[in-house]
Amino acid sequence: MITDPRWLHLTQALEEQSHAAEYDAWVRNTSIEIQNNKLTILIPSRFFRDGFKQRFHHAIESLIPEYFPDGTTLHYRVKTSLVKRAPTPTIATNEGLEPRFTFENFIVGSSNEFCHAASLAVAEHPGMRYNPLYIHGGVGLGKTHLITAVANRVLANNPKCKIAFRSGERFTNDMINAIRNGKNEAFRASYREVDLLILDDVQFIAGKTGTQEEFFHTFDTLHKANKQILLTSDQPPGALKHLEERLRSRFNWGLVADVQPPDLETRLAILASKAELAGLILAPEISELLASRITSNIRELEGALTRLSAQSTLLNRAIDMRLAKEVLPDLLNIQIKRITIEDIQQLIAEYYNLRINDIKGRSRRKNIVLPRQIAMYVSKALTTMSLPEIADRFGGRDHTTVLYAVRKIAGLREQDHDINIEIDRIIARIKSQRP
Ligand code: ADP
Ligand code: MG
Repeated sequence: MITDPRWLHLTQALEEQSHAAEYDAWVRNTSIEIQNNKLTILIPSRFFRDGFKQRFHHAIESLIPEYFPDGTTLHYRVKTSLVKRAPTPTIATNEGLEPRFTFENFIVGSSNEFCHAASLAVAEHPGMRYNPLYIHGGVGLGKTHLITAVANRVLANNPKCKIAFRSGERFTNDMINAIRNGKNEAFRASYREVDLLILDDVQFIAGKTGTQEEFFHTFDTLHKANKQILLTSDQPPGALKHLEERLRSRFNWGLVADVQPPDLETRLAILASKAELAGLILAPEISELLASRITSNIRELEGALTRLSAQSTLLNRAIDMRLAKEVLPDLLNIQIKRITIEDIQQLIAEYYNLRINDIKGRSRRKNIVLPRQIAMYVSKALTTMSLPEIADRFGGRDHTTVLYAVRKIAGLREQDHDINIEIDRIIARIKSQRP
């Protein structure tokens, strides 16, 4: 609307010497006319004019000789028809935070202690320690719980803090709507006022060009201003397909932490905590049953507990083995799906960002050979296949190749701590994918 470059430069200078919020609220709402050395600021109301003059008249007047060196004078005119552009775009903040998801309600075990520690550090010192903090891991392992706990803690420490908590999906929808209404500038600007941006399930934006573009700018603006950014995903940044490279590298700037499926002890502790929160007392055999049968998804563990408790209330019966067998029959005669070599190849290819054909193929490249040998080793460890059968599934090799791989990786696991941990993770992940 305002195209005169002199005015543009003047307002830039003005913006630099003003309060950002004041500038946004007052100056952005005006437009100008220039005629015969008269610069007229058009203002939507008299009330607005008075406030405007009080705040900016002197500053503008003293800038005029610099940007309008031809003796231009300053005037005001109220123009009620002035289409009022949106004032400071406001962004919905501090909403949608589940109050139950707190650090106090989060059970820490070896599978999540790293993420927990990182989240706690971020909650106590947002923008200072790990920025961004990127948490990844399988479904139902507590990612959303943890990042909500961060938000709740930050707010408790500083109730004025503005937190935008968005799912990747909501962020995308908001952005699409903004573009549709010609408001993408405002959309981007609205995020500038946020102190903490949380994007849950960021994998959702991968492959969506416009959303990634917008998020890239938002990310950079906030990061430069030392505002904390918190992300979750089902995959590490390196494994997200169709993610723009510049976002991938930014996701790795801070700290990348993963949550693993909880071990039995942690599952039991979580169950005890959830039962207590629900005011239930669980017999040890029931806890054992649930925690030993539901291994890879805490949401399911909770779901089973909720079903049991609902039925017990409804039928006015105690939560015992008989009720458990009626309410959760599927738990008790669970059909364990056998892990296949294809599952293993697929997961390892994804884990190392390779193609399945790399895993099965003949390339001697070092970054392929090791994952391939790990895949053979894991196949031997987790399936009942013989060496020749495994060799066959890896592109029709000789069984001695598999034997060699199995021995080599077993040796590596003893010598190399990092590789040992990595393989433990892979195995945990393969096991956890079994429905
Ligand atoms: P994700 O976002 O990783 O899919 P959620 O954070 O939604 O998982 O967690 C699923 C459910 O499991 C939530 O109700 C959450 O409270 C619970 N949960 C997960 N991990 C823990 C934990 N360590 N302690 C207590 N509850 C947990
Ligand atoms: Mg989640």
